Amino acid sequence: MGGRIGQNGVMSSIFGIGVRGRRGADKAAPPAPTDRRPRLLGQPVDHLPARLPQAKRGRRMRITVVGEEVLATPCKEVTELGTKELKTLIDDMHATNEIANGVGLAANQVGLDLRIFVYDCEDAFGVRNVGHVINPVITSTSGEQVIEEHEGCLSVPGAAALVTRPRVAVCEGVDLRGNPLRIEGVGMFARCLLHETDHLDGRLYLDHLSARERRRAMREMEAERDETWATWDTHARELGK
Ligand code: ZN
Repeated sequence: MGGRIGQNGVMSSIFGIGVRGRRGADKAAPPAPTDRRPRLLGQPVDHLPARLPQAKRGRRMRITVVGEEVLATPCKEVTELGTKELKTLIDDMHATNEIANGVGLAANQVGLDLRIFVYDCEDAFGVRNVGHVINPVITSTSGEQVIEEHEGCLSVPGAAALVTRPRVAVCEGVDLRGNPLRIEGVGMFARCLLHETDHLDGRLYLDHLSARERRRAMREMEAERDETWATWDTHARELGK
């Protein structure tokens, strides 16, 4: 998903919690957590470096664009866990996500038919969440508390549209070693979990829009795509990728 908060770049100025957003009823929203430490794979940790070691190690991959078949096809379950190849792929996906200032990236966005996504995303309370999920399933959402907020996608570069999503989402899957994961997201992070799991089912945020709004987003992408890609190229050079 596009629009990492607090980063430079074309996308980041138009996304963010509360930016041009309208919130629905919040009565049953979960309370702010007392533990505000960052979370790695759903578990609080004392420190996360600004630049993740995974992203430092990883190589840049090409990000696929709307219209490519791999983005419109449900991805296959990952059956081989704990391999060196899987670890390298997750590093590469983190690196690619960092270069594009993304908050999340799914495997079919780098051309691979596998149910994997990575994320580096702040939640509604400003808590940074980092990790990956393999074979993710959304196991619950709180559907009454929806948020209508701008959403973007690295595979629809430069465009954004209002998408209504639940405020809270729980995503379950496994990590690269096969350990079970249960990741709960609130606000932007819930949006990220839903957006990335959608990708692996062959859906883009564009598929949540009216035909008219979809055409508008596609025109916006046509106008902004080259500048967005140029921003990524510059950022990649700055990061030595
Ligand atoms: Zn996306």
